[in-house]
Amino acid sequence: MAGVGPENPPCPACGEPLFGWIDARPGLGGPVSRCESCGLGVIGGQGEVEEALRELDRLVQGGVLQVANRAGFSAWVGGAGWAGLEQGARYLFTVEAVRRLIANRDQVVKRARWAPGPGIAIMWQTILNGFTFGRNVALGALGRATASAAERPWQRRLDALISVVVALPVLFVALPLELLAAVFKRGGAASIEWELL
Ligand SMILES: [Zn+2]
Repeated sequence: MAGVGPENPPCPACGEPLFGWIDARPGLGGPVSRCESCGLGVIGGQGEVEEALRELDRLVQGGVLQVANRAGFSAWVGGAGWAGLEQGARYLFTVEAVRRLIANRDQVVKRARWAPGPGIAIMWQTILNGFTFGRNVALGALGRATASAAERPWQRRLDALISVVVALPVLFVALPLELLAAVFKRGGAASIEWELL
């Protein structure tokens, strides 16, 4: 594909070149690149179809795949502070990237919908990340994400306090923002069901 090279390895989902998005930082396995065609995000260099499919399969619960949407509004406003950048993640999915990836094993997306609860939670935590030293502190405390704790103990104590104090006011901002994003098909999380061709 045009533009693919050592600096821009091919997207494992669609083959278009990947471009740098976010620099490496603590809690991430390397710099983050993204595909401008299908939206897939890849952390730590070149990706692989098989590996991406394995990561997808791990996110399936009760036959439904649930992903944070890298093409969502919260990822766009959040950038490096996006709550979907979870510690240990290697791929960041979009509905289109999932569609391309599962086509490799003759599967098609049967249904893809906005997932309201996770979408609102991601938007909420993304905004909270702007207030704290660490990342995903609140969702981590709620057992909904892996927190990347701040380095120093005083920062961690402050983060816990800040998360409690601003949790509710931030929710009043995050809720309408995420609802609006969903109206424009840019919700922060998606529930996807697939089936064999
Ligand atoms: Zn792609």
